[in-house]
Amino acid sequence: MVWESQPSPLRNDEDTRRSFIMTGTSSDELDATLAALTNDPRVTIRRNGAPDPDGRCVVYWMQRAQRGQDNHAVDLAVKIAAALDLPVVVYFAGISNFPHANLRHYAFLNQGLVDVEEDLAARDIGFVMRRAPHESHERFFADVQAAIVIGDENPMREPERWRKQLASALEIPFWTVDTDVVVPSKLIEKAQYGAYTIRPRIQRLLPDFLHPYENLKAHRPWRRPGGLHTDSVHEDITRGWKELDRSVEPVAAWRGGTHAALKRLRYFTAHMLEHYDTARNKPEIDGSSCMSPYLHFGHIGPLTIALAVEEAAKKHPKLRPARDAYFNELIVWRELAVNFVKYTPNYDSHECAENWAKETIAEHARDEREFLYKLADLEHAKTHDDLWNAAQTQMVRHGWMHNVMRMYWAKKILEWTPDVKTAVKYAIHLNDKYFLDGRDPNGYAGVAWAILGKFDRAWGERPVFGKIRYMSGASTGRKFDSKKYMQQMKVLPEQVSLF
Ligand SMILES: Cc1cc2nc3c(=O)[nH]c(=O)nc-3n(C[C@H](O)[C@H](O)[C@H](O)COP(=O)(O)OP(=O)(O)OC[C@H]3O[C@@H](n4cnc5c(N)ncnc54)[C@H](O)[C@@H]3O)c2cc1C
Repeated sequence: MVWESQPSPLRNDEDTRRSFIMTGTSSDELDATLAALTNDPRVTIRRNGAPDPDGRCVVYWMQRAQRGQDNHAVDLAVKIAAALDLPVVVYFAGISNFPHANLRHYAFLNQGLVDVEEDLAARDIGFVMRRAPHESHERFFADVQAAIVIGDENPMREPERWRKQLASALEIPFWTVDTDVVVPSKLIEKAQYGAYTIRPRIQRLLPDFLHPYENLKAHRPWRRPGGLHTDSVHEDITRGWKELDRSVEPVAAWRGGTHAALKRLRYFTAHMLEHYDTARNKPEIDGSSCMSPYLHFGHIGPLTIALAVEEAAKKHPKLRPARDAYFNELIVWRELAVNFVKYTPNYDSHECAENWAKETIAEHARDEREFLYKLADLEHAKTHDDLWNAAQTQMVRHGWMHNVMRMYWAKKILEWTPDVKTAVKYAIHLNDKYFLDGRDPNGYAGVAWAILGKFDRAWGERPVFGKIRYMSGASTGRKFDSKKYMQQMKVLPEQVSLF
């Protein structure tokens, strides 16, 4: 397939002419090499121009894709560095005020950074982490004399704002790489109405992107300049951060990082995939992949997971239906959520509902609620509903919740709060505070689906919900061994370990 190409990143730029003194290649050759790299639909040129001819390295500012292997942004940085005959260094800025992040999130992230450093070292690529208050990007790029900066992509509001700010502040080129989706998100050119509209597009594009990563070694090893400030990933990244919310504790059952993610993936494809389609609907058994926290932090890319599942299905054709069911979640629903956040500026507000949903919500705004709970009642699992309380306990103590329970959990928040605005606000607050995979497009899409009927259709009318799909405790609890699930949640986290 031929993709629409971007304007040449170099042509007509005077600096180009000088940059060949470094490489010994002709300016046209380098221009052609870089232009070919930008033809990749994963790549976006955020700031045009030629690499700094006095630059001493290519920098990848790693923000979303926190992994040293299976990362298209690392591969691109290595290729550009080879064309420029320069080493590559990856930079991670440990900021202390990431929106809604608390100790639980940072501890998981911290574990992942150890794997990043190790995996990059094996590829002769440098890694520097600087934590607040030493995390200024501009300072780092100047310290190492970056010739060009590569970044990654994240459709969420704040990280996108940072990228735009950086693009306007930098005087060297800045390209980003969409490596945390299987199908590059810009190829799905507009907001999708539902899984049924994005699915055929993804199915058409998928064969072009189900290809292994290159995992190239750096052409020139990076040597750390003497005196360069670097913080250790083996120490607590949060030490001394006085403003950080430390009330949400790390969860011992989860270990962050690429190596733990790959271990779980191997176990999943070898022992669990076969039964995924039915087991994924049973909250009381360990039946789903548990990849969501790793995907959220970029410790693993969705393509790595998709390729492992595809490989298993090739070896054992009986796994094909399971592969299709899994791809429907990992690629169709997950990339629908990315599309939703990318094209919906108010993705975390009740205002993002479709018109039919807004109408039915307005019609039922004054319906009497049988139970009304305050945020603290919900947070501390103090409701009349044991099944809901068990789900809330799983969230708070385990940092994760089963998909079936997430649906039920969010729908009850709509039922038990005074209005839809409050319901969305409480659900997102709890989702982002406690889940390791929170603060993610999937969370905003999930809450919008459950409370606002987004990506769903209108159902039979009933009090409070109007035409938004309803879930009752009795029917939800009958579909699996809910007694066992509630019992398990009483002993969390000590007796439930995923690994
Ligand atoms: C109200 C609500 C809130 C949610 N909040 C989050 C959240 O904060 N973060 C998050 O990652 N997911 C969220 N989800 C989606 C889903 O519940 C989780 O992704 C899934 O339970 C994670 O478990 P798993 O990795 O074992 O999934 P598996 O069943 O093994 O699926 C594999 C991957 O597919 C993707 N996936 C699975 N189900 C969905 C789905 N319904 N929508 C989008 N992608 C999906 C996930 O990336 C998941 O890791 C939410 C869903 C709802 C209804």
